[in-house]
Amino acid sequence: MSVFKLGVFCLLFKSIFALSGNFWHITDLHWDPTYKLTDDPQLVCASSGNRPAATAGNYGDYVCDSPWHLISSSLYAMKDILPDPDFIVWTGDDTPHVPDEDLGEEAVLNIMRNLTHLITTVFPKTKVYSALGNHDYHPKNQLPSTGSRLYYQMVEMWKDWLEPESVETFKKGGFYSENLINQTGVRMLVLNTNLYYDQNKLTTSSIDPALQFKWADQILTEAARNNEKVYIIGHVPPGFFEKKRSKAWFTIQFNKRYIQLIQKHHAVILGQFFGHHHTDSFRMFYDSNGTPISTMFLSPGVTPWKTTLPGVVDGANNPGIRVFEYDPKTLLVKDVVTYYLNLTHANAAEERWEKEYRLTESFRVPDASPSSMHKVLERIASERCYLQKYYDFNSVNYDLTQCDDDCRVDHVCAAREVDFQRYRHCLETEGAASLYAGLLPILSVATTLILNGNYRWL
Ligand SMILES: [Zn+2]
Ligand SMILES: [Zn+2]
Repeated sequence: MSVFKLGVFCLLFKSIFALSGNFWHITDLHWDPTYKLTDDPQLVCASSGNRPAATAGNYGDYVCDSPWHLISSSLYAMKDILPDPDFIVWTGDDTPHVPDEDLGEEAVLNIMRNLTHLITTVFPKTKVYSALGNHDYHPKNQLPSTGSRLYYQMVEMWKDWLEPESVETFKKGGFYSENLINQTGVRMLVLNTNLYYDQNKLTTSSIDPALQFKWADQILTEAARNNEKVYIIGHVPPGFFEKKRSKAWFTIQFNKRYIQLIQKHHAVILGQFFGHHHTDSFRMFYDSNGTPISTMFLSPGVTPWKTTLPGVVDGANNPGIRVFEYDPKTLLVKDVVTYYLNLTHANAAEERWEKEYRLTESFRVPDASPSSMHKVLERIASERCYLQKYYDFNSVNYDLTQCDDDCRVDHVCAAREVDFQRYRHCLETEGAASLYAGLLPILSVATTLILNGNYRWL
């Protein structure tokens, strides 16, 4: 082959393969260092809060946060499945669900250090983008809008993952932005949305805690000027929890402001990746004409912990980890592949991380762009088989019960409407649609009877 032909071949090879990249997203590891196998099911783990861990095994129990064995297993599964990702997104919540008195500042830092050490041991050469969760602080949820000892300690812990420009903003408010894996034209924005959480007493009266909104607006404005594409990652998402009707996390003002930020800059934002729910779901953002403009992917947690949030029935999940396939130049999200561990099977027989599903296959869409995700949502909203498939994936194949009419409304409205007012409106219209669908067979029988002159039977 001539030098010219070889050059053309190399260029072609590069351009074909440069079109596809991939990265891991892991979230909500929630390590419970107290987890141990013992004869008394109430003493297995502190995070069960006296609920009996009836099926506890080496890989954990559905009422407990993760034992070390489960966390380590998930990291080594990642290494087996995709050993050389372009980068890893890690969206926080490292400590167990226990009272603040049982943890303390040093315990929180120690847990985070141990997890950081494990990730760097398994992936020594991989860049990690790390967002703080509401459990990555002492006291929990109380992340401040000013510099603090804990923010400083975290910068120290993650210094190998942070560019110099990221260190300054992280120290001030736990957020940062840098070029994605040092490539020009692409950018990562790591937000500390715990500042917008309604449980955070330090920030509720502020208009723009740590001036993060102002800063993000500047970064995204500059990104547009420089023709960059951006991914946003964070922990607590805006909008509503799909497993509990009308349960939001942000205050109303912060929720509004977040939506405004996305609507203003959607042209440069190619994806948002968040955690906190422990479930597998997504949120759509639309412009004022109803055109889909952005998607927030909510990835399932590693911890199987059954939530104690009142009103949620059986809110546990199987441990999940997730690969995103994307275009490294345009940042188009091309596909989402979720892997999971069936905890019952792992405890009873053997550890087996398996593919749960590939988005484009399961929902018959060409990619995971906002317009494709809109199609996914409309399929879930209108076709029972897609709704049930989505619902099984939502708990990572833990809760396989039927998603009824109320369940459909909760999930569809949470995914479709991040805005508080629009969400309430969706509950009304979708609720009425469910009611109509339920009445349809009765109406049809009634119509037949009337038409046949049998109206006296009504
Ligand atoms: Zn969590
Ligand atoms: Zn959380």
